Amino acid sequence: MGGMAAIVGSLGLPAGNALAADAPAPVVQPAGSDYETLVKLCYNENSYGPPRSVLDAMTGALKYANRYGAPDGGITAAIAKLHGVSADHLVLGAGSSEILDIVGTTFLSGGKKVIGVEPTFSAVYEHATGLNADAIRLPLRSDFRQDIPALIKAAKDNHPNVGFVYLCNPNNPTGMIVTSDEVKQLLDGLPPGVPVLIDEAYHHFVEDPAYATSIPHVLADRPVIVARTFSKIAAMAGMRLGYAVSTPTLIRKMAPYADSMNVNVLAKWGGAAMLADNTALAATKSNIVETRKQTAAALTAMGYAVIPSEANFFMVNLRRDVRPVIQSFRREGILVGRPFPPMNEHLRVSVGTPAEMEKFTTAFEKIMKT
Ligand code: PLP
Repeated sequence: MGGMAAIVGSLGLPAGNALAADAPAPVVQPAGSDYETLVKLCYNENSYGPPRSVLDAMTGALKYANRYGAPDGGITAAIAKLHGVSADHLVLGAGSSEILDIVGTTFLSGGKKVIGVEPTFSAVYEHATGLNADAIRLPLRSDFRQDIPALIKAAKDNHPNVGFVYLCNPNNPTGMIVTSDEVKQLLDGLPPGVPVLIDEAYHHFVEDPAYATSIPHVLADRPVIVARTFSKIAAMAGMRLGYAVSTPTLIRKMAPYADSMNVNVLAKWGGAAMLADNTALAATKSNIVETRKQTAAALTAMGYAVIPSEANFFMVNLRRDVRPVIQSFRREGILVGRPFPPMNEHLRVSVGTPAEMEKFTTAFEKIMKT
């Protein structure tokens, strides 16, 4: 067993595409596993868990566990209201992973290509591979930002064989944003009609005023699909709820690939309760962003450069191969992010609670001394 497989094996986690893609892999708990006690800073989850309001709503919805046609808790109406759109602008998914898959299935048939950067959330490229479609992966700029002119050029060079452009904003694994001006530059520069999938999984953590959601571009009838998830800010990764906001024209193309039963009833009720709990959403954001800044400051003080992140994770430059360091953290009872080639000397760390990050920082100091 070598490379990734060896690392996966050492974590006691399943190998396979989902983990390799950093998708929210089903973390199988083998007998005798120490999963419960491990500090889990590997999947950009939300360590705080859902607030009371969400837990209560999901508990209340358990009575519908035997039903197909139970009330949906108002989830579609709540999302529509949040974004000022009608239901024909929305598709729900079992997590935004399903939305990304639906976009791939819809727009990559007939030998079309997806264009995006690398590293990014690579599940999109892996799904394309499964569809026998090509992925054109462009390098990040030297400052780790996404190269908008290069994306435009690649789309023009490959037109009309481009199925869609993928833009993860903020990007996973760097946490860096594409500014609203750059998004506009991209949309204006692409050949007309090329759909752009803008993955806003980490939208809620952004503070930089140069960033904005791309949903207004949908309202302006641009060929944009915005993907959102309840897995990050809403701490519902295990419940599987995400959605797409797009134009009715693109939604109609995608809808046949979305199973009408894909989202479970607990996720629907929990998601609706979450959208109603602005106090909890704001508290989660400030806790996580504050803890990220404190952790980054501690690492910087130790002499390690941290990429400025606007998400619930960050990357730190180790100035050495990340793979043995990942294993050292595992020995300390801490799961950290996988390697993200070609950034092989950067470690991605999800931001947990202050107590978890203190354990991380202590372990970091110990490991990097060796
Ligand atoms: N998009 C990005 C950028 C992610 O990082 C993730 C998960 O880590 C997802 C989408 C998928 O999240 P989910 O399927 O839980 O909504």
